[in-house]
Amino acid sequence: MSVMTDHSAEISGQLIQIPQTIAAQRTFFKSNLTKDVEFRIEQLKKLRKAIVTNEKAIFEALDKDLKKSKFESYGTEIGIVLAELDKLIQNLKKWARPKKVKTSIFHFKASSYIYKDPYGVVLIVAPWNYPFQLLMLPLVGAIAAGNCVVLKPSEMAPATAKVMTDIIEGVFDERYVAVFNGGVETSTGLLKERYDYIFFTGSTFVGKIVYQAAAKHLTPVTLELGGKSPCIVDKDIHLDYTAKRIVWGKLVNVGQTCIAPDYIYIHRDVKDALITRMKEVIQEFYGKDPQKSKDYGRIINEKHFKRLTNLMQAGEIIHGGNTDYEDKYISPTFIEGVNPDDPVMQEEIFGPILPIMVYDDIDDVINFINDREKPLALYIFSKNEKMIDKVLTETSSGGASINDTLMHIGNDHLPFGGVGESGIGAYHGEFSFETFSHHKGVMNKSLALDMPIRYAPYKTSLSILKQLMKRM
Ligand code: NAD
Repeated sequence: MSVMTDHSAEISGQLIQIPQTIAAQRTFFKSNLTKDVEFRIEQLKKLRKAIVTNEKAIFEALDKDLKKSKFESYGTEIGIVLAELDKLIQNLKKWARPKKVKTSIFHFKASSYIYKDPYGVVLIVAPWNYPFQLLMLPLVGAIAAGNCVVLKPSEMAPATAKVMTDIIEGVFDERYVAVFNGGVETSTGLLKERYDYIFFTGSTFVGKIVYQAAAKHLTPVTLELGGKSPCIVDKDIHLDYTAKRIVWGKLVNVGQTCIAPDYIYIHRDVKDALITRMKEVIQEFYGKDPQKSKDYGRIINEKHFKRLTNLMQAGEIIHGGNTDYEDKYISPTFIEGVNPDDPVMQEEIFGPILPIMVYDDIDDVINFINDREKPLALYIFSKNEKMIDKVLTETSSGGASINDTLMHIGNDHLPFGGVGESGIGAYHGEFSFETFSHHKGVMNKSLALDMPIRYAPYKTSLSILKQLMKRM
């Protein structure tokens, strides 16, 4: 007989609780309370209040997990969630109403509507890099759409997971919103159960595991995954803005951003000037020694620190390359002369390392991108409209920014999501509400008259039927 450790006892206790919690959520969902829009708005307001009240604790947790500055923590995590809450609270009544759509004369006499039904019980699994935003943002959408929710924060950002758990448990009954903390075992336990929708953010590798688990029950999914997001720099650019916007997008959260520019392809004519300016910009942003800057974060853990230092073995380091194991610090690092077969060009970098490649012909860059998995984001810096149009038309990516990096994620009028290996589905703003709602097509047929033509025995000629069906 094996002796159970405290940890394994805790895990098995938790695993037993999972089916019970889901069953309780199903019962709660059946009460129809979550279908009441006023109830949903009230819950969103309660969540908003709790986040504002706990702002200091969230700052501290993000500092502990990722050494995120308050500015970045607010700008990329707390503020984004509060803005989403405000938007959904403000618009929910309008969005949740059944939407009247046209009905053709063929169906005379009837009216048609799209109902936005909640799915039921939703599972949300989050990663560690924006641990607050990436759990809370889908939660807001799921609540707004009228679902019950099971949450799994990332175990790799434990301080933030703890604060979020305290917030959720302080605000919601677990029959409505429940949190399960833990790693792979907990996730695997959660994925054994049946849900009505699964929203997963994380790596493509785990995304495939989640998709397989969902397929067993035909559960619909959103998969927000990763990949290598290219950044193309034409010769016709605004040098200063290009340098600043690339360096910023690469070094926010020290490159641990799903849509960070992974590598850059620079036109040969501007290569030297751009690299020189980017090096200056790094110093302007973070000083001579970024390790001393309060605005420069740290690598999440030792595993990723080691992975990243291994990736630095390829090519030639032309800037940075400084590391401090104890501090999990890696300086902004540029690498030239990488080979497409090098690990740094094979896997998503997810750190402050930027491989730089040079091109003469844009078709070569487009072919390079199209020969690989579809990226989550693509960046193109150019003043040449034709060139921008060519790149956008001839490549496929989850999203894109022109003459900037990351910024398309911040506009909630745009859907955010991947394509191919970078993901399935999208969210943010109204897209979040739509994502967590089933669109039920409803036709309401009048009882004022009843056209006999459709009933057997069929007496109408085929040619009349053909004429009528042209009006569908
Ligand atoms: P991950 O896939 O390792 O983990 C994500 C979640 O899945 C965590 O909660 C983890 O506990 C769980 N998990 C891990 N292994 C599992 C398994 N075998 N079975 C079931 N669940 C498992 O990802 P990560 O390291 O936390 O995050 C980094 C990745 O996420 C990067 O690839 C990044 O690009 C991607 N990402 C994507 C987005 C997006 O919006 N598209 C945002 C942030 C991060």
